[in-house]
Amino acid sequence: MQLNSTAEEAMEKEELRVGGLTPLTSLDFPGELAAVVFCQGCPWRCSYCHNNHLVPPDSATITPWRQIEAFLKRRQGLLDAVVFSGGEPTLQSALSFALTRVKAMGFRIGLHTAGIYPERLGALEPHLNWVGLDIKALPEDYPAITGAAGSGERAWESLRLLLATGIPLEVRTTMPQDWRLAQGIEMLMRRLADEGVQDYALQACRDTNRRTRDWQVTGFPAPRPPEAFEKLGETLFHRFVLR
Ligand code: SF4
Repeated sequence: MQLNSTAEEAMEKEELRVGGLTPLTSLDFPGELAAVVFCQGCPWRCSYCHNNHLVPPDSATITPWRQIEAFLKRRQGLLDAVVFSGGEPTLQSALSFALTRVKAMGFRIGLHTAGIYPERLGALEPHLNWVGLDIKALPEDYPAITGAAGSGERAWESLRLLLATGIPLEVRTTMPQDWRLAQGIEMLMRRLADEGVQDYALQACRDTNRRTRDWQVTGFPAPRPPEAFEKLGETLFHRFVLR
């Protein structure tokens, strides 16, 4: 797999590097009041990434982990859960320790992941109460989005692993800005249903940074609005959400 090895090396044997914190949300872990810890670093380079500031392995605005723990101690009894998001949380070897500490404080644990490291998800499983997994496309279409060879196979391996564990799982797809890829969404939804996905969310691409506007610059028509898939989603999935 083509990865940013600098990002991986920088994450080894360090405390969890946190690039941001949302102190309260009811949207990021279904049914729970949660804080979201945004982990720094991601080895992929998705064309529509709306968290570009979290992609580099290092940042001038890292929040020390002890400050995160101090914040969470003040929220015991007020929050139900903590969601680890990113970036890609499973990039960091320190994630497991952080999950252990947060769980010991009495919080339920949510994880947002692109499924980049399926081999690490198995080890994290005992800590997890809910997972939001990005499945961006059919496996063969991944490199055009992530810039990483073999990325689709890894994400779909993570999907199958998580489905086998029985951990509550929401699969999410961001509508690509490239019309040619957006046309594959219907086939993707059918494949996910065949794999056994029951909860599914289709997210609009946020037009908030330069790269998400490339379709306008290069002349691609805008993606079909997500509402066009609502009926199909109601048929295929137990819980289908448009965002
Ligand atoms: S996997 Fe997620 S965080 Fe990483 S580049 Fe893609 S969209 Fe951004």
